[in-house]
Amino acid sequence: MMSSPPHIGIAGAGLLGRLLAWQLSRAGHRVSVFDPSISEQPVPRSQAPDPYVPTAAAFTAAGMLSPLSELDNAEPAVAALGWRSLALWQRIAAALPNSPRVMVCGSLLVAHRADLGAAQRVLARMQVATATPEWRVASPPEGAQPLDAAALRALEPSIQGPAHAWLLPGEGFIDTVATMTALHSGAAGADWHWGQRVLAVEAGEGGGTLRLADGRVLAFDVVIDVRGVGAGLLPRPSGERAGVRGAGHDGGAAGPHPNPPPAGEGENSLRVRGVRGVRGEVIWLDCPGHGLTRPVRLLHPRHRVYIVPRSDRDVLVGASEIESEDRSPVSLRTATELMAAAHSVVPALAEARILKLDVNLRPALPDNNPLVEWQGRKLTINGLFRHGWLLAPALVERALAADGARAANLSVAPFDDLAMNSKAASAGLASAIA
Ligand SMILES: Cc1cc2nc3c(=O)[nH]c(=O)nc-3n(C[C@H](O)[C@H](O)[C@H](O)COP(=O)(O)OP(=O)(O)OC[C@H]3O[C@@H](n4cnc5c(N)ncnc54)[C@H](O)[C@@H]3O)c2cc1C
Repeated sequence: MMSSPPHIGIAGAGLLGRLLAWQLSRAGHRVSVFDPSISEQPVPRSQAPDPYVPTAAAFTAAGMLSPLSELDNAEPAVAALGWRSLALWQRIAAALPNSPRVMVCGSLLVAHRADLGAAQRVLARMQVATATPEWRVASPPEGAQPLDAAALRALEPSIQGPAHAWLLPGEGFIDTVATMTALHSGAAGADWHWGQRVLAVEAGEGGGTLRLADGRVLAFDVVIDVRGVGAGLLPRPSGERAGVRGAGHDGGAAGPHPNPPPAGEGENSLRVRGVRGVRGEVIWLDCPGHGLTRPVRLLHPRHRVYIVPRSDRDVLVGASEIESEDRSPVSLRTATELMAAAHSVVPALAEARILKLDVNLRPALPDNNPLVEWQGRKLTINGLFRHGWLLAPALVERALAADGARAANLSVAPFDDLAMNSKAASAGLASAIA
């Protein structure tokens, strides 16, 4: 039995890396984090120097916490985890430096008159998913609630144009950049190693190693692989799985894999699963007094567009979803489509100024489900795809409560032990009433 707390090596300082570093260092563990980014700060694509060193997808994300609307893209058991994360984010944010903003006051789905058919198809899929036992066991009973014009005007007077609207109660959003910054500064005891690419994360006898691009091989008591898209190929599962992959799925693809593991690796090609990147583009707008208080998703036959108020002047509009690992700047097509759609919902955005455009890759596994897996003293979490912010606290909670964590001597107080401060408690109350 180890006498001192384990020393933990984490590969990746994105959303999962920072959340784990914060939670584990708070519990008194020694934590060292390695990431190829040049610093803890985000670098939006439109402001990136050459050569471009990408930063975490978590910085680019809109931060929608939307279990109901993600039912359009995720299995009910996966999306339902979002309700747990919504509660946990409020506690976590309240305990972080500067208490980053987490708003839980519902979100809106809207559709223009001509697009009612497309909207009804999405709502019908949602209805089927909310009827499943996997969803019901963890989710509040309310589904999408239709709003008439007067009710929509009362909730969000700045929305003008869409003829149809639905309220999704209990959904919310989080300030992603502020939370990433606060997780980093809040994990004061952790050692952060920037400009360090980890080539391999391996479990060994009584511990594990990180193999760095500069040739060093560093040994730790526990190693964690949260490199997102940078993990490339993941070994086939062999150890304990604390995951939430859909029943009956074990790497089985829901659709064709656009980037299959390289052929010709003999036995290896059967033993690996690839993490692929799915390109997403977003636009940051400055529009003082835009008036929007909730995230809005426009249901459209061709795009999924959401508009997220980040402050009373900043608005984020996203996002494309393209099966490509291209990280080149935002295309004219995406920019014009997203901005035209946003303007058609909130006319005040016509006078907004474009602050920056960003691009990143969502890390996805072949079945588009997340993976949480212990193999000896090595923990892997990946495949958070479109819903990393929605799922991360619930997945980290599962991973740190699993038998693998106990076997690795990781004792961590649950997030539930975080006290809610009065501000967070009243925000939660407001959301329950809204
Ligand atoms: C456009 C867009 C919009 C999104 N919107 C939402 C949303 O509204 N709601 C939501 O819930 N989710 C959203 N997401 C998804 C969410 O951002 C991701 O699911 C989440 O960031 C995944 O977290 P992660 O820690 O696995 O990966 P990341 O956040 O990408 O972090 C991975 C980290 O690993 C580092 N790394 C890479 N390679 C290596 C290496 N070799 N060695 C060491 N470190 C390495 C990277 O530099 C990075 O810091 C969005 C994503 C995008 C791109």
